[in-house]
Amino acid sequence: MLQQTQVATVIDYYTRWMQKWPTLQALAQASLEVVSELAGRMPRTAEDLQKLLPGVGRYTAGAIASISYGQATGVVDGNVIRVLCRLRCVGADSSSPAVIDRLWDMANVLVDKSRPGDFNQALMELGATVCVPKSPLCGECPVKQHCQAWRRVEKELAFASQKLLGKAPPVPDVEDCGVGDCPLCPPATEPWDSSLGVTNFPRKAAKKPPRAMRTATCVLERRGCHGAPEYLIVQRPSSGLLAGLWEFPSLPLAQDLQEEKEREELADHLQAWIGRPVAAAGLQFIGEVIHVFSHIHQTYVVYSLHLDGDVTLDPALSPSRWVTEHEFHTSAVSTAMKKVLKAHEKQRRKESSPVKGSKRKRGAKAQGAGSPCPGTQLSIHAFLRAPTGP
Ligand code: SF4
Repeated sequence: MLQQTQVATVIDYYTRWMQKWPTLQALAQASLEVVSELAGRMPRTAEDLQKLLPGVGRYTAGAIASISYGQATGVVDGNVIRVLCRLRCVGADSSSPAVIDRLWDMANVLVDKSRPGDFNQALMELGATVCVPKSPLCGECPVKQHCQAWRRVEKELAFASQKLLGKAPPVPDVEDCGVGDCPLCPPATEPWDSSLGVTNFPRKAAKKPPRAMRTATCVLERRGCHGAPEYLIVQRPSSGLLAGLWEFPSLPLAQDLQEEKEREELADHLQAWIGRPVAAAGLQFIGEVIHVFSHIHQTYVVYSLHLDGDVTLDPALSPSRWVTEHEFHTSAVSTAMKKVLKAHEKQRRKESSPVKGSKRKRGAKAQGAGSPCPGTQLSIHAFLRAPTGP
C-alpha cells in the first residue's frame, strides 16, 4: 500500500485490511486467491521475498528484508533515486535500466550494516522532506558535504564571485566533465543548466503519451433471487493488465471499428460466455467510460443486456459467476469496472424515472416482494424497494 501512496492515506485501508485478514491464513481464504507454499512463514531475505512471493518486487523485498528482518540490503524508490542522483550528479535518464542498476549498487554499498532498516527509512525520508523535487532545502541537508550537485552549485557561486573580483577562474574538476561516453553523466545534448542548480538531477526521458485502447464491455443482467438484479462477471487472465481481477465480459476492439461491427463482435463474444446466441441489435448502448492507466488511455464502450431464464455458464472457460450488486463491490474488481457499473445504474435510473419509460419501473416494483433469500444480502436498490408494511 505504501508503495502507492502516503501513510496518511493508507492508515484507514491498512486498519480495515488487518481486521479482515489478520493472518496469512485468513488472507489465503480471500476471494482473490493467495497461495502459501511456505507453511505460512514469510521469507526473510530480499532475494527470497522477490523470488517466492509473486507481486513482491525489488523495492518491496528490500524494504521488508531491511526494516523487518534487519538484512543489510538497500532500497531504491523515487525518493532514493532523487537523492542518489543528486549526491553523485547522475544526469543520465534515471528510469533507464543502466542507471537503476547502478543506483541499486550504490544503495547496497551505502546501507548501514548495523541498522539497515533505519538507514533506508532515513534515506527515503531525506528525499521526502529535504531533498524534495522542486525546492530542496540544501542549506539544512545533513549530507550536503557529500553531495556533488550541491558542491557544483557552490563552486559556480564561488566562480561567479571571483569573476566579479577580476580573479583568474579555477581549473575545472574532472567530475565536471559531463560529456563523453559515461553512462551516468548528463548527455552532451542536455548539459548542466546553472539556473536549475541541484534540480538538474535526476533527469528523465520524455514520457511517452499513454496508448489509446477501446474495449467493448457488457453488463449482463438477470433477475436473481426475488427479482434482485445479478450481474455476470468473469475473471481476467492471471498475467498482464489487471491480472486475476474480475470484470464484465469485455472484448478489446480494433481502432476505428464501425458501431455495427463492434456490436456484432461483442455479441459473438457474449455468446461464448452464456452458450446461446445473442442478437447484436438487442445490446443496449449505455455510453463510454474513460479510465486512464499509467500507460493506457482506455475507453470502455459500455452495453447492457438483460437475460431471461436460466443461463448455464461453461466451466471450461475462465472462471465466471453471477453476483449481486453488493457482491460485485466486495469482489476483486477494478475501479474501471466500478465506473462501468455506475454508468449502467445511472442509465437504469434515467429509464425508470416517472417521466421516461414505465417498463423498468414495473419491473422494480416486483423486486421488492417477499423476504430475502437465506444467506443473501439485498442490494441497496432491492433494499430501498422492499415493502415497509407487513
Ligand atoms: Fe539533496 Fe541538496 Fe542535500 Fe544534495 S545537498 S542531497 S541536493 S538536499
